[in-house]
Amino acid sequence: MQRDILEDVDRFCKELRPIEDLAYLERKHNDMLIPLAKKYNLLGMIVPKDYGGREASNLTYVKALERIGMEGSGIRSFFSVHTSLAQRLLMRYGSEEQKERYLKPSARGDKIFAFALTEPDAGSNPLEMRSIYKEDEDGGYMLNGTKYLITNATIADAIIVFARHNANSMRMSAFIIDTDREGIEREPLIAKMGTPTTDTGMFELKGYKVPKANLLGKEGEGWRIAKEALIDGRLSVAAGCVGSIKDCFIEAIRYARARVQYGKPIAKHQLVQEHIAMIRLDYTASRSMVRHATLMKDRWDKDVDDEARKRAADMAVAEAKLFAVNAAYDAADRALQIFGGRGWSYLYRPARHLVDNRVCRIYEGTDEILKLKIASGVLGKEYRAYQ
Ligand SMILES: Cc1cc2nc3c(=O)[nH]c(=O)nc-3n(C[C@H](O)[C@H](O)[C@H](O)COP(=O)(O)OP(=O)(O)OC[C@H]3O[C@@H](n4cnc5c(N)ncnc54)[C@H](O)[C@@H]3O)c2cc1C
Repeated sequence: MQRDILEDVDRFCKELRPIEDLAYLERKHNDMLIPLAKKYNLLGMIVPKDYGGREASNLTYVKALERIGMEGSGIRSFFSVHTSLAQRLLMRYGSEEQKERYLKPSARGDKIFAFALTEPDAGSNPLEMRSIYKEDEDGGYMLNGTKYLITNATIADAIIVFARHNANSMRMSAFIIDTDREGIEREPLIAKMGTPTTDTGMFELKGYKVPKANLLGKEGEGWRIAKEALIDGRLSVAAGCVGSIKDCFIEAIRYARARVQYGKPIAKHQLVQEHIAMIRLDYTASRSMVRHATLMKDRWDKDVDDEARKRAADMAVAEAKLFAVNAAYDAADRALQIFGGRGWSYLYRPARHLVDNRVCRIYEGTDEILKLKIASGVLGKEYRAYQ
């Protein structure tokens, strides 16, 4: 039942919160995230029942991400990568054997996923990537390259990696790699501004051998696969931001009612009310855009080969993501302002949301790239500012 999933998500969030609060202050990885997600059976939310999942609809999953987003963008990022990017790709492009070997255990939480497109020299433009693959003598492939700024990089059991063919740089392919094999070295990113409780890292592949059975989709289909994944990924970021705004809203109202200055609750001061009104607008507008984008994605899912539906979903999701990430940053900033000096401390939730929401304006398409994408979507291909 869809409602059961959302109830489990809520229970998960409530049990996780005090642990997350402490981990955040100690700037430590939240080691209970995966065990609790397993306990509430949330690691295969969207996966079909035949593969051990719970078959959440797009709307249920978006609502789940909204709830998870209340706990912070770091926690939500974990799900974005494991579920929205990796599991969704396996569901769409995985062979039956890959679904048995990877999708099923991932739905149980026995395999955690990462998704690796970005490289030191290829961020906004993944086509500048340097990771390469070539056919090896065993009929499989050999991969070499470096991926960085990868969510779940050092905790993942398997990673979807994108690389270009060594002899034909236009041919990009996607591979599923196991992290317990030879040829991969991983390193966490410690010195980061926010999301301290979840993993971001880099890894290097040196002569990493991938069996042919681990090619995801067809050879040369990598760029298409990556672009499709980003539609789901962006929707997940936008949905998480709706939750973050909601949490800021709840916190701001609670504090503004309780805090007394000049002989009355600060909620009675009109300039404080302006912040409350604007956070409310951030919430309602973002939520509406995310729900609309979810509908567009639903339409596309009903006919995945329909290019017009895919374009419509791509645009609606890009708009929702661009709007919601900025609204979430604004909402956290306003909530922090309402908390005054206390707001500047990580002991209170707005500061954490502010810092953690900042990265949402960078990953899965920076603000600038999404603006250009939306503008060229409206103006037409010939106005595209980047290729
Ligand atoms: C915490 C975190 C987690 C991440 N997780 C993942 C992950 O799991 N998997 C993954 O593959 N990647 C991940 N990323 C990488 C992320 O997607 C990239 O950082 C992002 O795409 C931007 O790339 P870049 O950092 O190389 O910036 P650059 O591409 O170098 O951009 C730098 C600046 O230039 C601007 N710019 C670039 N090109 C243009 C243009 N044509 N017009 C106008 N402005 C432009 C950008 O908007 C930006 O402001 C993560 C990043 C972070 C910070």
